Amino acid sequence: MPSENTLKLLCFSAPSGAGKTSLVRALIERIPELSFSISATSRPRRGTEQEGVDYYFLSPEDFRQRAAQGLLLEWEEVYPGALYGTLVSEIERLRSLGKIPILDMDVYGALGLKKRFETQVLTVFVMPPSLDVLRQRLQLRGTDSPERIEERLAKAKEELRLSEEFDRIVLNDEFAMALEQAEAIVRRFIEE
Ligand code: 5GP
Repeated sequence: MPSENTLKLLCFSAPSGAGKTSLVRALIERIPELSFSISATSRPRRGTEQEGVDYYFLSPEDFRQRAAQGLLLEWEEVYPGALYGTLVSEIERLRSLGKIPILDMDVYGALGLKKRFETQVLTVFVMPPSLDVLRQRLQLRGTDSPERIEERLAKAKEELRLSEEFDRIVLNDEFAMALEQAEAIVRRFIEE
């Protein structure tokens, strides 16, 4: 990072199905200072996903090599065998455009960045109303098998435990209210 003293990063985390992606998209539409940080991943491309839009898709070897070279700000094995991380070059690209990067990442990645960058990072946890609601949302989404849903729910329990370590928690029961709350949090951080 060229000048860590002026760095500002927004990290959003949530269990799968909590509505984080919709919330982050809506925030970017409303707040022009924000720009989405495109992560690198070693998992294969899915459906309509595009290189350099949804992710930078790297082979596991390339990913690990870049991590070893210090080219990733953070990275985690989010699912067994699937690596995800933030490229230093991506953060530099957004900052050179005068944008505040908004990152979507797993809880460990977010808490790791918080530990390293302290007040320069704001961590926000998007809380689902309950595990039952989460299960219903994942079932309705219809993109995961029943086994995968159970796997995601088990992971969600662990993520909920770690939510206490986040700077802010946004309850996503009613989307419009969650968005209003998140927008106020983000605007305050930008203006600080
Ligand atoms: P998916 O494979 O469904 O797109 O994403 C799986 C998980 O990876 C999500 O929980 C997402 O938050 C996490 N993730 C995406 N990008 C990053 C990243 O750059 N770093 C970390 N630590 N996690 C990420």
